[in-house]
Amino acid sequence: MHSLTFSTKSAEQTQAIAERLAQLLQPGDVLLLEGDLGAGKTTFTKGLAKGLGVRRTVNSPTFTIIKEYMGRMPLYHMDVYRVQDGGEDLGFDEYFYGEGVCVVEWAHLIEEQLPAEYLKVVLLHKGNDERQVELKPVGSRYELMSKELVK
Ligand code: ADP
Ligand code: MG
Repeated sequence: MHSLTFSTKSAEQTQAIAERLAQLLQPGDVLLLEGDLGAGKTTFTKGLAKGLGVRRTVNSPTFTIIKEYMGRMPLYHMDVYRVQDGGEDLGFDEYFYGEGVCVVEWAHLIEEQLPAEYLKVVLLHKGNDERQVELKPVGSRYELMSKELVK
């Protein structure tokens, strides 16, 4: 619906968008990051972490599936790339309906388990250091968030 598109020319610019978005986040918010390898999903997450006041360095959680960082609230960074068979028994709900913000890379692999409402962030590789960052809100909470971001 009300989607927002940004063009960035560096990793720093992509992080800056995420950092601004982080100011609007509340416990229980869910962000789904879509985009090919190298599109900037983890880079975007680094910006979110910074905006949430996380001091630790955010790395790709590919081998651990879920990494938790503490800022002004918990940030659950999930990379479900290696989850098998839709990740049936991994207890994602505990995170989705928990006290922190969830960021999920490769979310479509656990489609069945996703909450009904979320902010989808689609990252597209446009050139060397150029990316398109598209925010697609699903649900009123996220529509409002997108509107707030461009105020
Ligand atoms: P993914 O998690 O989607 O696989 P990463 O965030 O790990 O992608 O990697 C993106 C790479 O592209 C990083 O090395 C980052 O520095 C680089 N990069 C260059 N330009 C941009 C940009 N405009 N936005 C995001 N990342 C960028
Ligand atoms: Mg990544």
